[in-house]
Amino acid sequence: MTKLAIPDLSLVALVGVSGSGKSTFARTHFAPTQVLSSDRFRGLVADDENDQSATPDAFDALYYVADKRLRAGRLTVVDAMHLHREDRAKLVAAARARDVLPVAIVFDLPEAVTRRRNAEHRALPGHVLRRQQEALRRSVRHLAKEGFRKVHVLSTVDDVAAAGIEYEK
Ligand code: ATP
Ligand code: MG
Repeated sequence: MTKLAIPDLSLVALVGVSGSGKSTFARTHFAPTQVLSSDRFRGLVADDENDQSATPDAFDALYYVADKRLRAGRLTVVDAMHLHREDRAKLVAAARARDVLPVAIVFDLPEAVTRRRNAEHRALPGHVLRRQQEALRRSVRHLAKEGFRKVHVLSTVDDVAAAGIEYEK
């Protein structure tokens, strides 16, 4: 196992394109209540996890809950793509507001893998996936500068399979 060290009170951003395995990883390594997913919150506010017009309200609600959790000292994982600097800045600010360390786990998998999974997963048009990939590529090297205290990058399917979380005080 490759241990991904994260402080035991962290706000964890999963970072990756659609189909990169964020939700699967979150299910495997964290308790369901620790994971706040943008899909789930879109569902809660709009009865439809895919209703993109609900995204601003969904994130308002998500960060409201995240703040309550962090205030109570509970590790929290945000399952969203985090491909854009502004989205990540919101997460870093939420962590800082409660003196919690922001951490990024990046799913930078080969495009062939995410393209193949996408076919059965969300069937997004090719150009959408491509734009997401480009945004991810541009993002990775900036994460530490943006305030993430730890940045763990998983670059292959094997990296993901071998990864485990190790909590540090
Ligand atoms: P989205 O951003 O669209 O929510 P995601 O990053 O959460 O995507 P998942 O839903 O976790 O991605 O995975 C997408 C698809 O790939 C699913 O069908 C899932 O079963 C499959 N998948 C995820 N991780 C793995 C893995 N390690 N091995 C094989 N298949 C996987
Ligand atoms: Mg997902």
